[in-house]
Amino acid sequence: MGQFETKLYAALVGGGFVVAAIVFLSLFFITAPYGRHMRPGWGPAVNSTVGWMIMESVAVSVLPLFFFLGHGLAPTPAWVFLILWETHYLHRAIVYPLRRRSRKGSMPLAIILMAIVFNIFNGYVNGRYLGLNTDVYGADWLMKPCLVSGVIVFFAGFAINIHSDNVLRSLGWSGKARYRIPRGGLYRWVSCPNYLGEVMEWTGWALATWSVSGLLFAVWTGANLIPRAFSHHRWYLNEFPDYPPKRKAIFPFLF
Ligand code: NDP
Repeated sequence: MGQFETKLYAALVGGGFVVAAIVFLSLFFITAPYGRHMRPGWGPAVNSTVGWMIMESVAVSVLPLFFFLGHGLAPTPAWVFLILWETHYLHRAIVYPLRRRSRKGSMPLAIILMAIVFNIFNGYVNGRYLGLNTDVYGADWLMKPCLVSGVIVFFAGFAINIHSDNVLRSLGWSGKARYRIPRGGLYRWVSCPNYLGEVMEWTGWALATWSVSGLLFAVWTGANLIPRAFSHHRWYLNEFPDYPPKRKAIFPFLF
């Protein structure tokens, strides 16, 4: 990394933490306008399935690009991170959009553009770090407690996320109702276990990579999804008088 890029990278990471804090606080007041929170006034909208596929495909490709640029093509232990990343993002970019219940719905173009900018930023920050620190991730890294526990947390989160999204998909439309109360699995304790699973995945990633770039991604995921879980939870309470009173928003027994 040259001098200019080193400074740019440090500014992106430092600035990334500051912006994540601002986003976290703002999202408690302005809920991102898609799904049940979709509303007019956010510019043109496009098909949400196409939107999901485009915005998440950016993540599929940007991290590997910077990873291989620094790392070269020879297989090394650091490929374990590529496997984690692509496991999540190939599912999110292809499988998830095609299986969503509301495939014909729409989402604002502005949301898609913001997600693309974030995915370029995040793919660069994480891919560049992993690609340039190949000496850190030698064979001994595969036995480190941080890697082992991180991979376990990642896949536990991945399983929770997929199972919880499957529960939502199985709800279908009943009569005129577009939404119903999800039940079973971690829905016993929280309104948004799919978000809890996602937060776990990237916390696992931060642990496994033991890097500031991984930490930044975990922080961003929480900054995005904790306030959104709060909005979903409040919406459920307003919408369903019989909503389970002990259910929390995202973290069982806590919040
Ligand atoms: P939601 O939980 O809001 O919705 C998921 C799907 O289930 C949508 O098709 C939604 O329909 C449907 N749905 C939700 N609740 C109900 C209900 N009560 N009854 C019937 N159908 C329901 O998740 P998001 O759309 O926000 O996110 C989708 C996935 O993407 C999640 O797995 C999430 O973790 C991930 N994600 C990750 C982010 C990150 O920062 N890493 C950011 C955002 C999402 P509809 O669209 O019509 O509301």
